[in-house]
Amino acid sequence: MDSAVFQKLATLRENNVIALKEGKEQGQNVVGTYCLYAPAELVVAAGAHPVMLCGTSQNPIPAAEQHLPRNLCPLIKSSYGFAATDTCPFFHFSDLIVAETTCDGKKKMYELMEEFKPVHLMQLPQVQDRKSALDYWVEELKRLQVRLEEDFGVQITEEKLREAIELLNDERRSLKALQDSLRHKPAPASGMELLTVLHNRSFALDKRETIGLVDQFTEELNERIRKGVSTLAANAPRILLTGVPVGLGSDKVVRLIEEAGGQVVCFESCGAYKKVEPVKPGDDPLRAIAECYLNIPCSCMSPNRGRFELVARLADEFQADGVIDLTWQACHTYNIESYSLRRHIQQATGLPFLQIETDYSESDTEQLKLRLEAFLELLNNGQKRHTA
Ligand code: SF4
Ligand code: SF4
Repeated sequence: MDSAVFQKLATLRENNVIALKEGKEQGQNVVGTYCLYAPAELVVAAGAHPVMLCGTSQNPIPAAEQHLPRNLCPLIKSSYGFAATDTCPFFHFSDLIVAETTCDGKKKMYELMEEFKPVHLMQLPQVQDRKSALDYWVEELKRLQVRLEEDFGVQITEEKLREAIELLNDERRSLKALQDSLRHKPAPASGMELLTVLHNRSFALDKRETIGLVDQFTEELNERIRKGVSTLAANAPRILLTGVPVGLGSDKVVRLIEEAGGQVVCFESCGAYKKVEPVKPGDDPLRAIAECYLNIPCSCMSPNRGRFELVARLADEFQADGVIDLTWQACHTYNIESYSLRRHIQQATGLPFLQIETDYSESDTEQLKLRLEAFLELLNNGQKRHTA
């Protein structure tokens, strides 16, 4: 994309490796996380940098398979592989890993990861609508607070917590506005361009500066909309991608959709639209954080009605022509949930729905290409609900 701001955002990961090294030399603390449920507000309030470490590359997977079963989600294997081979600078410089009990594969992997780094495991309740679950989760946040205070020799005051809530709410606002610009038809950026920004910004250490950059980029996209400028075909089938987390390196399906003439206009996944709701700080900021995080609509929750409602609403708001549900191989929760999600989406929206199960390798690329081309053809041949 021909934009200096986009180029800055696209290089945030590599540029922040240097900032990270310098920060460590100055005694700053870094906390690595692997999941949306890890409450970043507490980390920020402890004066540390939260960094998202989810592996999105195939490269470290063979090393991970020396310890982990091959038949395991590629995200877990990639994340563990980076740790075992010490090839991710963000893992290398992390002082503490904040982990959580979500799916079985991930929580058992953390037991092995403890050999490389100190890991603080949060026990996540897997039901969202009970007061007892929220009470329990609040206690887990308190336990994390104590751990951060002890490890980093700081005190997380209420004032610091409120400041952190404000900062991270602003980050969510900014990311939501960016994603919302793709509601417009034709969208002012491709799904791959949006993913490039969403992926890279999670490695930025200076959140305020990054929020400013994202806002500038959104303004550029909105200006394109006002001027009627788009590099994308006005009648390209608009796809809502839901399911497992995706990032640069695990973007195979996004790439193939767009190479085949479709456009991903919305990601209902972690790092994108799964968590745009702000924390609403009341009298008790810690409880407000706990409540906001417990409501994240992930398939490890049972039931997980929030995701069904969110996908249906986003399909409408982003004028989607079809829904693609992406599942990583051996991810049982998303895989099983796909059946009821399909039924719900078809009943609620009437949109065509496709489930794709794959991994990070390129071994099934040709087969996926054929399936995606057939799906997009179906959308082009009159099944598109929203016409240009
Ligand atoms: S999909 Fe669920 S378990 Fe995986 S990172 Fe997102 S919130 Fe966490
Ligand atoms: S994609 Fe599925 S199996 Fe993989 S870490 Fe997330 S919830 Fe677990």
